Amino acid sequence: MATLAAFRFDNSFARELPGFYTPWRPVAAPAPRLLFFNRSLAEELGLDIASLDGPALAETFAGNTLPDGAEPLAQAYAGHQFGRYSPQLGDGRALLLGEVIDRQGRRRDIAFKGSGRTPFARGGDGKAAVGPMLREVLIGEAMHALGIPTTRALAVAATGEPVIREQTLPGAVLTRVAASHLRVGTFEFHAARGDVDRVRKLAEYTIARHDHALASSPQPFLALLQAVAERQAALVAQWMNVGFIHGVMNTDNMAISGETIDYGPCAFIEAYDPDAVFSSIDDQGRYAFGNQPDIARWNLARLAETLLPLLSDDPEKAVAMATKVLVAFPAQYRGHLLRGQRAKLGLCRGEPDDDGADAALAEDWLSLLHAERVDFTLGWRRLADAAAGDEAALRALFADAHAPDAWLSRWRARCASEDQGMQASAMAGIERANAMRRVNPFVIARNHRVEEALAAASDQGDLAPFERLLDAIRRPYDEAPELAPYAEPAPAAVTARYRTFCGT
Ligand code: AMP
Ligand code: MG
Repeated sequence: MATLAAFRFDNSFARELPGFYTPWRPVAAPAPRLLFFNRSLAEELGLDIASLDGPALAETFAGNTLPDGAEPLAQAYAGHQFGRYSPQLGDGRALLLGEVIDRQGRRRDIAFKGSGRTPFARGGDGKAAVGPMLREVLIGEAMHALGIPTTRALAVAATGEPVIREQTLPGAVLTRVAASHLRVGTFEFHAARGDVDRVRKLAEYTIARHDHALASSPQPFLALLQAVAERQAALVAQWMNVGFIHGVMNTDNMAISGETIDYGPCAFIEAYDPDAVFSSIDDQGRYAFGNQPDIARWNLARLAETLLPLLSDDPEKAVAMATKVLVAFPAQYRGHLLRGQRAKLGLCRGEPDDDGADAALAEDWLSLLHAERVDFTLGWRRLADAAAGDEAALRALFADAHAPDAWLSRWRARCASEDQGMQASAMAGIERANAMRRVNPFVIARNHRVEEALAAASDQGDLAPFERLLDAIRRPYDEAPELAPYAEPAPAAVTARYRTFCGT
């Protein structure tokens, strides 16, 4: 069969970092069938999609025919998993095919997941099941539509082969697009072996790829650490402002690029709760919703350790330099969080927050949602209606309709302080509501909807619920009547029982 010339590969990782990977090939799938193809992402990547027909796409995205120019390889990485160091993880069932430069000139990785065992597979079978791979599609597209940096799915192909888990499941291969697959764990792998030259090479490669402007900085490696910290502060703040729980923030699942990566046991919260944990293996709540900023900093400390020998010949100096970055992280994070919260509250003026009044206003709103067990997403969305003058839908979310009275009057006073001088405050209210509706989603990928769509696809081969949900989560700010079922929270009892699993 002819191979596809659709990708114009330029494989810098393979070319520049020998010794950081093992060349490896995907295992052939017996009966490939395309379950999902992301046309808009394909266009963004500049793929020559006109030349692609269905069967050829299925063969390619199941790993049976490699596209021209692909140089598949398994990347080496280590990682701290639940706080414990694993010296050798690596791509056990994933392969980087190569990189393409997209239409905007950005370099993007094209990688398989579930394409068979590699030398890093340890006990694993190298495979992936349809459900978890379609989950990566849904959550990645949801995050993308919410404006949150994320890896995205280009395709999912069923392999026609069963995968043995607790049950026998249909197998699939995901094709994932990422700014890169460089992880904190990639640095740890080489640092733990005491290979400072390789850590330096990796850091130089990373700077050239993600932080080109830093190459000429007087302290490029310190600047890299700062840049990664800045991206994580911004990313985790965005997660917190949409109620996203990653679920398995091990250092091998933290991307240097600042994209959200590896959608395994992730979930969106329903009622606001900082202690929310859904992952079946996170029994200590290490990766609970409210812990995510602290865990990001913990992971950055692991990255910082790998860079110490590059920062200064004087170990004490190196530690002092890295510590400064880590100490600055919480304030950096809070700055991003507050910026997002202000937009969600419909506030646009008022920086800086010297007296902490806006941070307290946001904090008290969250405490109110928590105490009254109000749905996080709808609480924010209905606050936009309140800005437009209609408080009924907001009050209906509270068991006691007057519970938000005191907070609402504080918020109104704060809004009024921004509206001074405006001709008609009703007009200001409508404008504020519209601005709030552009940042407070109506539709998120609700857990029960995701599960329902994945079960239909995996158990019955019925992709219709998946496709309908995908359409809904791709327009999260659109309050169209047909999307209303996707905005409904799950019954509290369902959420209380909800458990997520690693995508193995
Ligand atoms: P994850 O939990 O998906 O981030 O994966 C952690 C590590 O386990 C990575 O090194 C994966 O490549 C590896 N892994 C997970 N599932 C499998 C599998 N089914 N076969 C081989 N390796 C796997
Ligand atoms: Mg992972």
